[in-house]
Amino acid sequence: MIKLLKTEPLQCGESLPGYILRLTELNYYDRPSRITSLAGVPIATTTPSFMTTPGDLTLLATLSDVPVEELQRRTYPAVQRHKMPFRVVSFFGHPVSHSVITYDSAKICPACLQEIGCCHAVWDLLPVTTCPVHTCLLLRHCPGCRKRISWKRTKLCVCDCGFDWRNSAVSLIDQREIKLAQLVHQLLQLPVRANSATACANDNPLLSLDLLHLFTAVLFIAGQNEGFTDITGGTYVDIRQLALQFLGSSE
Ligand SMILES: [Zn+2]
Ligand SMILES: [Zn+2]
Repeated sequence: MIKLLKTEPLQCGESLPGYILRLTELNYYDRPSRITSLAGVPIATTTPSFMTTPGDLTLLATLSDVPVEELQRRTYPAVQRHKMPFRVVSFFGHPVSHSVITYDSAKICPACLQEIGCCHAVWDLLPVTTCPVHTCLLLRHCPGCRKRISWKRTKLCVCDCGFDWRNSAVSLIDQREIKLAQLVHQLLQLPVRANSATACANDNPLLSLDLLHLFTAVLFIAGQNEGFTDITGGTYVDIRQLALQFLGSSE
């Protein structure tokens, strides 16, 4: 059984594609597909099947020296017998609509990359467009080449064009605009910035919802505002302003 020359443990909340990318750079491979090929979990499709279909991650566990259960916890398998009229998957044990997870492109927080050097899985949730730790927008496009940030890159923090995202100026936003991301971080028990200005009013009905119903409610409102009602289509909508309006409505 082969093991990668260099391995590092998974970080709290780290995404599996992000971890594979981190191992890619650590071991001087030119593409994450080198590691997924070795592990027998090819990522030829836009949506990597190993992220959505229960598969055998034993080889990847051996390569990375991480328990297979830890790797499996970071995949998004379908939740069976769910009553929602769309496909529901498990996101770190929390049911969510499969359409709120983006697989083909990535978002990043430059300040988080600078501080922790790994990619948070929470950035791959469509409604999460801000970082509640750094009160900034997540980057979807590289400031250097303007291309969408892809998982099929060589380095974790540096674009294929050479731009190091850790040196990118963060787009600071109003603290009220991180409420939705703050709520999501709290539900997932991820770090947040302790600041009462970003907390929702205690009587806000959204506070009682789980992740599945929170996203369904917020995307429904976004859909109404944008003039469409299909919340399962996976279309990107910047719901920051709507969430601000919605989450701040009862204050
Ligand atoms: Zn951040
Ligand atoms: Zn670039």
